[in-house]
Amino acid sequence: MDTQEVIRLLAEISLVDDRVVKADETEQIAQVRLWAAALIDVPFDFAGEAVGRHYAESAWPVMPKDITAWWRTVARDRMARHAERRAPDADPDDVDGYVLALRADRSAVVTGAEPPARVRAELARVGRTIEPAPANAGYLAAKAAMYPKRDRPAGPPELGVRCPTCGADAGRACRTLHRGRVMTGTHPDRKRDHFVAQQEAASA
Ligand SMILES: [Zn+2]
Repeated sequence: MDTQEVIRLLAEISLVDDRVVKADETEQIAQVRLWAAALIDVPFDFAGEAVGRHYAESAWPVMPKDITAWWRTVARDRMARHAERRAPDADPDDVDGYVLALRADRSAVVTGAEPPARVRAELARVGRTIEPAPANAGYLAAKAAMYPKRDRPAGPPELGVRCPTCGADAGRACRTLHRGRVMTGTHPDRKRDHFVAQQEAASA
C-alpha cells in the first residue's frame, strides 16, 4: 500500500470511527507516515477487509498492528498451502533470474493474485490414474524390432535437428543461453522444428 492508499484507508476508517484519525494536521502527517511504513507490504483491499474484521470483533480503535497481524496470519496460511506447482519459466542456471521468478510466484500467492498450488492433490490424482503397464515378452520383442539397438538415438529425437534457440548442431545437446551449460532437455523451438521436419518428411 502506498501513501495515497493509506490516506484513502484512513479517510474510510474515519467514517466509521472518529477516534482513529488525528485532528491536528501535523499529527495527521506523522500518522500517515507511520501507517504507510507499517502497511507497505499489505495490499489496499486486504487492509480494508482487515479493518472491517477488526470492527466486527473489537470496540477498540483500529491500529496498524491489527492489520499486519491478520496479514501475517493469512500470508503464512497461504504459503503453507502453496508449493511451487512448476519450475518458474526462468533458466535455472540464471540464479538471480530464477530466484526473482520464484519470488514473484510466491508473492502472487501471498497477495492472493494466484491461488495456492495444490501439488500434493494433483500428484495423488496422477498416481491413481497412471500406472505403468508391465512389459511382457511380446511387447519387448515388438519394441526391439521397431527400434534396433544400434539405431536407437542416444537422446530425445529432436537432437536430430539443429536448435534455433541456442544454435546447437544436430546431434549436439542444447546449452543454456546465459551460461552455456549443457542441458538435459532441449529448447522448445527445437522440438517444434523437429516436429515440423517430421511432418514435412511424412507428406513428401
Ligand atoms: Zn537449444
